Amino acid sequence: MRIVVAASEMAPLAKTGGLGDVLGALPRAMAREGHDVRMFLPHYSSIDLSERKVTRIGSNLSIDVGGTAHEVTLNVVKDRQRGLEIILIGCDHYFKRASLYIDPETGKDYADNDERFILFNRAVLEACRAIGLRPDIIHAHDWQAALLPVYLKTLYANDEVFSGAHSVLTIHNLAHQGQFPGERFRLLKLPDRLFGAGEAVEFYGQVNFLKAGISFADKITTVSRRYAEEIQTGKFGCGLEGVLVNRKDDLSGILNGVDYSVWSPSRDKNIPYRYHINNLAGKRMTKVELLNAAGLPVREYAPLIGMIARLVQQKGLDLIAEAADRMMAMDIQFIALGTGEEKYHKLLTMLQEQYPDKVRVYLKHDEKIAHQIEAGADAFLMPSLFEPCGLNQMYSLKYGTVPIVNHVGGLADTIEPFNPERGTGTGFIFNEESPEAMLEAIEKMVHTYSRRRLWTGLMKNGMRQDYSWGRAVAGYIELFRSLKDQ
Ligand code: ADP
Repeated sequence: MRIVVAASEMAPLAKTGGLGDVLGALPRAMAREGHDVRMFLPHYSSIDLSERKVTRIGSNLSIDVGGTAHEVTLNVVKDRQRGLEIILIGCDHYFKRASLYIDPETGKDYADNDERFILFNRAVLEACRAIGLRPDIIHAHDWQAALLPVYLKTLYANDEVFSGAHSVLTIHNLAHQGQFPGERFRLLKLPDRLFGAGEAVEFYGQVNFLKAGISFADKITTVSRRYAEEIQTGKFGCGLEGVLVNRKDDLSGILNGVDYSVWSPSRDKNIPYRYHINNLAGKRMTKVELLNAAGLPVREYAPLIGMIARLVQQKGLDLIAEAADRMMAMDIQFIALGTGEEKYHKLLTMLQEQYPDKVRVYLKHDEKIAHQIEAGADAFLMPSLFEPCGLNQMYSLKYGTVPIVNHVGGLADTIEPFNPERGTGTGFIFNEESPEAMLEAIEKMVHTYSRRRLWTGLMKNGMRQDYSWGRAVAGYIELFRSLKDQ
């Protein structure tokens, strides 16, 4: 199949979170199966192409947004995987910026994010026309690419190039919808009727890119089965539950995979000592190095809890705030890595000051430290209030780092509660969004950690899990085929 993929992130070229990881792996895995995959990505100035072969293709495009014509360049980056081409959509006005979405000077979203991604979506379709690419499937990810299904069925409905094209929209996080003031609707150049009350693009007077995409896509997927169910309810639907229930026959969940060439302790280039399920000595040594580097005392009998997350409400930091003193009263150590909201930076910094022998916090984005925490920690804390899929808990399993998770979304789909009698299960789960429930799970972890044989069995149960991309790719390809054969 000819598959066009469009997204705003792709690791390692551009990444702020899990979206980048997924796009760094999924298109490549599809190409490996023999499909012709073109991945479209905005050409941010942060993208490092120094070690890549890049060729300019076609002549420049001219794309109008709000009455201004913008010149758009198309650069193709050849990937080491045959069958995959990465096409960078260049537009200095919109993508030559310090960051992907947020203006570092104000800490707020760029005021013209709607224009930036309108241009991106139009450019993907115009590039297909310019290259003469006739896609079978257009796979759009999140709100930044959610206009593709909309444009395909409106402005490009009669375009010969797209006569065989079907669209799939994957929602990685429903909390980000691409909402903009109603007066910005004219920028989309869509028929007025689509902005009538309750129509596809309108959401309480605002323009909503994701709602529009959900309304028009042929199929919609999310990144775990449980999240696909959850988002049809008021608690998790972020206001779009009604729209999603309307499309429930076309909505499904396909769990993300893990790129084990990057995330496994036997191959990880970022950790000081590699290890394996049958020889865990490297894990202990990595823990010692991690503690030394963090300036924390090495205390063999205290489990080290790791945490890596965007520091936002979703990740359950308020639970940690409420539970902090009771958590630190336990015989544990805690290393956290993340960036995000100021109040959570303060919270973690305060914890570090209050408990200098127990807590070390890194407030930055750092791939290397992320790998070292995954490898060196004993347990991994993810108290997310919602979690569409979550990658870190799956990474943790492979590193023998036991996840402690809230029972939501992908966390519930991937972690099985540990049963000490039978020795089954892979982690500790709490079923209620409360500090007490989280503390109880942490206590169970601490108790199990002191029973070494039980703990080693638990670690190994996790290390044996296989969440590689093969299964996920098969799920997507089956879905694509069902559309193509319609
Ligand atoms: P989300 O997509 O909501 O951010 P996921 O668990 O799906 O959550 O993916 C998060 C990804 O981002 C993981 O690869 C994680 O290691 C990485 N990550 C998050 N914060 C940091 C950070 N400060 N430094 C390095 N990696 C980070």
